[in-house]
Amino acid sequence: MKSQAWWADPGPDECEFCSRFYYVEVGYYCLECDRPICPVCVVTVFERQAVLCPECHGGQ
Ligand SMILES: [Zn+2]
Ligand SMILES: [Zn+2]
Repeated sequence: MKSQAWWADPGPDECEFCSRFYYVEVGYYCLECDRPICPVCVVTVFERQAVLCPECHGGQ
């Protein structure tokens, strides 16, 4: 038995921004481009109540 939570393990989905493997269930989708984002790369824009990928957040 593993002592770590399942979501702390590397998952099957690779983040295209940081190349980290994660579970898409704990990730997010960019509101602008709809690409999956890992929990590390996600950018939360509180004013817009939106989550964006680093690319959409930085490029606008
Ligand atoms: Zn990432
Ligand atoms: Zn995006």
